[in-house]
Amino acid sequence: MPVLDEKLQVIYEEVLRRNQGETEFHQSVHEVLDSLGPVVAKHPQYADAAIIQRLCEPERQIIFRVPWTDDSGGVQINRGFRVEFNSALGPYKGGLRFHPSVYLGIVKFLGFEQIFKNALTGMPIGGGKGGSDFDPKGRSEGEVMRFCQSFMTELYRHLGEHTDVPAGDIGVGGREIGYLFGQYKRITNRYESGVLTGKGLTWGGSQVRTEATGYGAVHFVEAMLATRGEDFDGKQVVVSGSGNVAMYAIEKVHQLGGTVVACSDSTGQVVDEKGIDLALLKEVKEAQRGRIADYAAARGAGAALVTSGSIWQVPCDIALPCATQNELDAADAASLVRNGCAIVAEGANMPTTPAAVKLLVDAGRLFAPGKAANAGGVATSALEMQQNASRDSWSFEHTEVRLATIMRAIHDRCLETAEEYGAPGSYLAGANIAGFTKVADAMLALGLV
Ligand code: NDP
Repeated sequence: MPVLDEKLQVIYEEVLRRNQGETEFHQSVHEVLDSLGPVVAKHPQYADAAIIQRLCEPERQIIFRVPWTDDSGGVQINRGFRVEFNSALGPYKGGLRFHPSVYLGIVKFLGFEQIFKNALTGMPIGGGKGGSDFDPKGRSEGEVMRFCQSFMTELYRHLGEHTDVPAGDIGVGGREIGYLFGQYKRITNRYESGVLTGKGLTWGGSQVRTEATGYGAVHFVEAMLATRGEDFDGKQVVVSGSGNVAMYAIEKVHQLGGTVVACSDSTGQVVDEKGIDLALLKEVKEAQRGRIADYAAARGAGAALVTSGSIWQVPCDIALPCATQNELDAADAASLVRNGCAIVAEGANMPTTPAAVKLLVDAGRLFAPGKAANAGGVATSALEMQQNASRDSWSFEHTEVRLATIMRAIHDRCLETAEEYGAPGSYLAGANIAGFTKVADAMLALGLV
């Protein structure tokens, strides 16, 4: 990775030394520090109070054993994590990821990103993230429930609507949030709705939360297109993944007149020139919990299943990586540029490698980082917390207008901040600097805690 501004490089090397082997965390720290040169030059008070060093050190890290019994009566042991990264702006807020790849370095990268993302939303929420190396795929309902109950039996003592408020992420959707909330309620004997977000609509959830991350990312791109006097009408879009974020990004692109011509899962991608049939995709992925091959088979002629190569070779005007970290590398970025893709916006967290980002930006393509483009999910979680606190529930229409307004405000804040700090047009610099300064100023005000 490129060497940073001198003072920032010293801080980064200390992060490497203190957090060995956590490569994703290193990457996310480097990406933020890379934007902060002009900020530390302008505001020496941040260096005097060691704000960056403090930001890179989580306030609290919890690692715990999660024992549970599988359907054959065997004992299974997983590892649970919650990293409470920064609470300068509000209670720790960020999702839980259940995936076999989860280890401390993944949770810390996600938690670190979350600090700045949450600051960008303008809502009063700090940053945290958690999860487990548990793999819900192929597990029965009973196994998923027993795992979630065991996970919460340890985690509950660290949570609270004013302390730490988890939500979903990869492998954690409405079903898992339900089991987690049920166990929290049972242990604490409190109907504390605001302790988890992503809840079902009949038990404290918010309209639009399920759709929010995907919808929000597309609203963000709508604002990017508007800077060029364009809109989604007639645009070809490629979306990676076929989970929560991907599915609702597809839905909103179609509502705005674009066509999503390909999506994927970890087993392959489907190219569907007529446009992805979202009702079918939801049926396969949400109801049947099937694979992308099942969608291709059910869709029939016109939809091609591809199990080799990269989804980023499919020509498009707009690319929305919505699956997982580092899924779009330099070779993929080169394909996108060659095929005329004008915009890449991250629905997932850190899906684009640093080399790919550089290649896209050098080629004059618009690039929106996840901490800005996918902030609609956590912003709507904060709206869910507002509704829980006031024991109210808002309509779909009202909540969607709030989401769209928040995404537009984040978009504009990124561009204004980039301009102010000498990087006009850079969403990456704008997001990092706007998120950082908001948290840094709060940390200064709160003293050395
Ligand atoms: P889901 O579990 O609903 O979906 C994840 C999708 O990505 C699935 O299609 C999955 O395929 C695919 N995927 C996961 N890991 C890999 C991998 N290693 N290689 C290829 N494909 C993979 O998760 P979400 O949609 O909730 O999350 C997607 C991304 O968006 C993550 O980066 C998450 O952190 C981020 N995000 C999510 C938010 C939310 O509100 N849910 C908010 C903000 C960001 P398969 O089923 O085959 O594993």
